[in-house]
Amino acid sequence: MSDTESRFRVIVIGGGIAGLSASHMLQKAGIDHIVLERRSEVARLEGGSMFIYPHGSRILDQLGCLDTVQKGTVPPGRWFIRLPGGKKILESTFFSHIQKNHGYNMLIFERPKLLRDLYETLPDKTRVRTNASVDSIKQDENGVDVVLSNGEVERGDLVLGCDGVYSTVRSAMWDAANAASPGMITVKEKRAISADWYCLVFVTPGIPELSETDMTVINSAEHTHLFTLTPKKGFFSVYFLLDKPFPWPKRAKRFTEQDAEDLARSVADHPLSDTVMFGEVWKRRLRSSVIHLEEGVLDHWYHGRIALAGDSAHKVMPNMGLGGNSSMESVAVLTNRLRQMLVDTNWRKPSSAKLEETLAAYQEERVGRMKHIFKFSSNMSQGWRTPWYKFLSTWIIPVIPDSMLAAEMSKIISGAPRLDFLEVKDLPPGRVPWEYVANKKRSTEGGIVGGNKLSSLSLVTALGVALYYYYGVRPLPLPSLA
Ligand SMILES: Cc1cc2nc3c(=O)[nH]c(=O)nc-3n(C[C@H](O)[C@H](O)[C@H](O)COP(=O)(O)OP(=O)(O)OC[C@H]3O[C@@H](n4cnc5c(N)ncnc54)[C@H](O)[C@@H]3O)c2cc1C
Repeated sequence: MSDTESRFRVIVIGGGIAGLSASHMLQKAGIDHIVLERRSEVARLEGGSMFIYPHGSRILDQLGCLDTVQKGTVPPGRWFIRLPGGKKILESTFFSHIQKNHGYNMLIFERPKLLRDLYETLPDKTRVRTNASVDSIKQDENGVDVVLSNGEVERGDLVLGCDGVYSTVRSAMWDAANAASPGMITVKEKRAISADWYCLVFVTPGIPELSETDMTVINSAEHTHLFTLTPKKGFFSVYFLLDKPFPWPKRAKRFTEQDAEDLARSVADHPLSDTVMFGEVWKRRLRSSVIHLEEGVLDHWYHGRIALAGDSAHKVMPNMGLGGNSSMESVAVLTNRLRQMLVDTNWRKPSSAKLEETLAAYQEERVGRMKHIFKFSSNMSQGWRTPWYKFLSTWIIPVIPDSMLAAEMSKIISGAPRLDFLEVKDLPPGRVPWEYVANKKRSTEGGIVGGNKLSSLSLVTALGVALYYYYGVRPLPLPSLA
């Protein structure tokens, strides 16, 4: 057997955040691979903003990309919550607490920048093939064939599906799993990823009269506005509830430019601050789109020689900006596990049993944490959907101390994985210790520090603070929710 034939090879499908991160990590781990991306370029100008949290920065730091990614970025300033009439009810220093807790600043920039930076900093760019659309996958005892739409075949030992929420790899994996073990993937699991919301997303030049660095949330009964400004770009989104949930593989419809115009018109008279209305910023848009916001986490992340990472396995609401960060986490954990497997086999191809054991460990390490992040992101994205959420966002969140809100997020950040075979050089000092223990079984609460949602404890404390604040020391200043 030649050296090439005996080398373990991963075929990564999809060159998004997960796929490009996978190439970086596999290159660092010395694992042979190819990334197949169906588009003609990896960094097409689409999508809105991207927040990178300290745990994402720590991984980018390990990969040697952080300097490039953070170049030209400006740390986010304050987080405002406003009532539908424009009145401010929260002005939080959440982001600066996150920086103090973990050392790294939060990063905010246009999404294609991350894809471009990840691609440009790859040590070997020939690992990424564009115009390579995957049609089907065939597994056998010794390997796996990936068939492209032009009929070409790539052969490897493992397929990693980083092909997003409408994943071809996931469908192939489900077919293979149910053929081998009928009933393994249930309809319930297939319907686990579902859309309750859709979203108008658009990007503008900087709008200094709104702000230069702040994030604002404005909830109302019908929709939620969320926008973040940077000096050069404004990133706007408006969330609308669908009439009914649409589980995979259905979509409510394919949205058009006219849909974007119609949605924008329906909210044109909404104040976004004391001085600026929605219609005024919409006029300055550079590009826009309307998308479904699917969310859900699968129970099965692998079968045979197929594994999933990123939105194909775990899709979360974007409001908290954790989806892309989590995609990098998943690929890091899988790379850690694959590398350890190859160290154990002296870099020869593993047996099917050894590969299965490795993928099972990957899934076990990730599912609990991702279910936690999914619930947290979902809870924080409900706007005024029910009276409880309206009460929470109007009365509780505005009176929770900034440090306490940040502490909830810090639990997620500090429990995040990293690459366990690379040092993090010059880790910036922070108040909250990093908790990740390599290859350790995670708790189902998503990281070894535990905690959930605005956890019960925090909520009770927050409720106490709110009641004391409003009933104890002040007369009851009920705002009109107009
Ligand atoms: C409005 C919005 C804001 C967001 N903001 C943030 C944020 O601030 N921070 C954050 O961390 N996350 C954010 N997210 C989430 C984040 O964008 C996703 O979690 C992330 O992009 C998932 O990456 P991925 O690589 O798994 O999938 P994708 O980005 O969907 O990439 C999949 C890739 O696979 C390719 N592909 C698909 N099928 C095939 C095929 N058959 N053959 C070959 N290639 C194929 C596609 O062309 C694509 O390039 C946001 C999401 C939205 C919608």
